[in-house]
Amino acid sequence: MKPSQIQRFQQQQDKFTAGVPDRVARIKMLWAQMATAVPADQSSREDMILEAHKLAGTATTLGFIDLGEWGRDVETLLKSHQQRATVAYEDPELQRLMDCLDTVTEIEPKRADKLLNNEATLLHEQEQNHQLIYVVAEDMDATQEMVDQLRYIDYKVNFYKDTATLKKALDKEAPSVIILDMNSDALLEDIKKVWRKRSGVPLVVLSNSNSWECRLHASRSGAYAFFQKPIEYDEILSVLDSLWESSHAKYRILIVEDDRVLAEHFAAILQNAGMSTVIVDQPEQLLEELGEFSPDLVLMDLYMPTCSGVEAASVIRQHAKHNNVPIVYLSGETDLKLQMKALQVGADDFLTKPISDHHLTQAVSIRTRRFRALSAMMDRDSLTGLLNHSNLKIELEKELSRAQRNGSQVSFVMIDIDHFKSINDKYGHPVGDKVIKGVARLLNYRFRKSDTSARYGGEEFALILPDTPADIALRLIDEFRLMFSRTPFSNGDENFYATLSAGIATFPEFTSVDSIIEAADSALYLAKERGRNRVLTHVEVIHVNPTEPPLTLNNNG
Ligand code: GH3
Ligand code: MG
Ligand code: MG
Ligand code: MG
Repeated sequence: MKPSQIQRFQQQQDKFTAGVPDRVARIKMLWAQMATAVPADQSSREDMILEAHKLAGTATTLGFIDLGEWGRDVETLLKSHQQRATVAYEDPELQRLMDCLDTVTEIEPKRADKLLNNEATLLHEQEQNHQLIYVVAEDMDATQEMVDQLRYIDYKVNFYKDTATLKKALDKEAPSVIILDMNSDALLEDIKKVWRKRSGVPLVVLSNSNSWECRLHASRSGAYAFFQKPIEYDEILSVLDSLWESSHAKYRILIVEDDRVLAEHFAAILQNAGMSTVIVDQPEQLLEELGEFSPDLVLMDLYMPTCSGVEAASVIRQHAKHNNVPIVYLSGETDLKLQMKALQVGADDFLTKPISDHHLTQAVSIRTRRFRALSAMMDRDSLTGLLNHSNLKIELEKELSRAQRNGSQVSFVMIDIDHFKSINDKYGHPVGDKVIKGVARLLNYRFRKSDTSARYGGEEFALILPDTPADIALRLIDEFRLMFSRTPFSNGDENFYATLSAGIATFPEFTSVDSIIEAADSALYLAKERGRNRVLTHVEVIHVNPTEPPLTLNNNG
């Protein structure tokens, strides 16, 4: 926003603030009418729906996020009573909302200079620190064990005793999650003054009570997950896993558009909403970018000088591996017949220019989310969420050809849990599964987004490390091995530890998918032979196996 815009916005905010008491008074009056009228007064309910609706729209737009949410919640609840012909003022949730109306109006709005034009961008305005967790608890000792365990896997955990100090911390840096250890409902009410359920920071509630009311209260307050104490280490970790998934869901959008300026405009809007974008302004580069960027969605212009968007879309669909990626046309074409024709080649939707920023981000993110969910089901292993065997090979192929082009190195790692059979035998299959998930989780935490981890099969995993020579890979994987060996697993009250072994092979020493897998596998085999709980590179295999070609010229065996 320009300074003049910010000023104008602030004036609007001030004007809105000045009008809030009147709005509140009117809402309270309507509520009182609804509560006393017998039978329930239809017209005051409808008036109140209208008030809440206006509040939701205006307050949100002007940065009074909490008040906007309040309005939306009230509107939704009232409408549900309208539909079901039930008595709204008897609804405890509505009563609760009415009770906290005054507190909600006191929450400060977002500062104008931090606001962009639309709501969608609000969620992403603050970069989250994914290794950071805020714990709010009146009694710190009670959560100490959980905190220790989170710190094992390298989370930074900060404690807050009250919401005032939490607010200060939130203003400074956004964590990946807030965990609230709730002894009383009061703390949950309190936290809602400083935390917004649409802020992008999820709230996890821990409670002594497991009652329906308690769970409902948490869920209505916008809690992402709810656990009864004492909590299992594993449960809290699986929540963090699912958050990790969504936090990594940085949608990749490929924009095909010959008008560079327009393309950059769309890119900026989508980036503002947290997506990453690549622009292709010459359709000839399309296939290459599709392979490299592997977008979640293609936004396709219809009219380009060298080929039409419809032709480009049909070329995309000729390739089996790009058969699923959603293609959405973005064009000024309003002729419905032409639109239908354009969709026939296998594109998914048609958006017409001009399009509002908000509509564009919504349209793109909804389709992308659905595509992600579908392909996650198809490409990923259901136990761990890691890539499955066949998709690992596709990725490996991609990385090897990328490395060939760039002249870079790629390390490939095979990992296998040690004596896994005896873990299963001793603790049972479900506990064995927990250990498998533990490896997957640690792989997710320890490696970069550009690295690919997969479940190769049973208790075997594979990892692709682009731009990583063998010696660096060896150091990284050995750190990983050590970290895993120190990660506790629980079987009831008993804690136990597991170890793993790994083998590494590197491109350009091995150039094909099959040969690099085989080489890493033989290094893994040797690591097992040498006593397990260790990592070896393929170089070691060459030393013990004289039939293999020597690594260097002066190494004549
Ligand atoms: P080593 O140290 O040589 O790797 O010994 P190991 O016992 O780990 O290796 P082995 O290959 O003999 O045993 C692997 C076991 O993993 C056998 C199989 O029953 C078990 N397994 C495979 N998939 C799963 C799974 O999804 N869940 C569980 N719990 N066990 C699995
Ligand atoms: Mg064009
Ligand atoms: Mg095995
Ligand atoms: Mg094993």
